[in-house]
Amino acid sequence: MPDPDHALIITCEHATNHIPRRYALLFGDLTMPLMDHSAFDNGAAELARLLAARFAAPCFEADVSRLLVDCNRSPGHRGLFCPRLEADERDALFNRHYLPFRQSALAAIEAAVSSGRRVLHLSIHSFTPCLNGEVRRADLGFLYDPRRQGEKAFCRRWLATLKEMQPSLRLRRNYPYRGVADGFTTAVRKILPPESYLGIELEVNQRLVDEAPPVWAQLRQTIAASLAAAVAGER
Ligand SMILES: [Zn+2]
Repeated sequence: MPDPDHALIITCEHATNHIPRRYALLFGDLTMPLMDHSAFDNGAAELARLLAARFAAPCFEADVSRLLVDCNRSPGHRGLFCPRLEADERDALFNRHYLPFRQSALAAIEAAVSSGRRVLHLSIHSFTPCLNGEVRRADLGFLYDPRRQGEKAFCRRWLATLKEMQPSLRLRRNYPYRGVADGFTTAVRKILPPESYLGIELEVNQRLVDEAPPVWAQLRQTIAASLAAAVAGER
């Protein structure tokens, strides 16, 4: 985002299904990567990297599966760690993976704010099309804090642009989760005011990621193009 007043910063909390070898026994002596949706957000890293490249934005990815430590949960949340981990293992994962990810992303966000720019933080995720028997029909979900007018207005503009570019897309706000639920953007909102920080989570239905590769590749391009238009409207 070559704009002196705004900075785009991208994070991907559930980028990988990587389980370091020393923890493999917790998951039945893993010999193959865990492809289950609970291990990572399939497709999210691909989209995050595309957006980062397109907008020359920094991109921070968690480097371990959320099954071990969930970088989109706050310290103290009961879903932060795999329940089978010992206390020393939790500490090690927190210090080696969680903290470096959170601190480096937060440092970039705070540095941009200190230099007088308004940060648009996009946290990129994907969701499973079927959870506990419930079929989730939306294609994309935009999560934000409805009390923050800047986030609300940005999402409204982004949704409208996307709908214009690809009318068949089913777009939802604060779906399949609420934007104010525990997460990295929610944590940053507690530190930075609405004038200097917009925190938006984008959730992509994994059904679209699993479709034919050209369809997913095209959708990534459409998301990037619509974001460019929404950002231009922000200036
Ligand atoms: Zn996620």
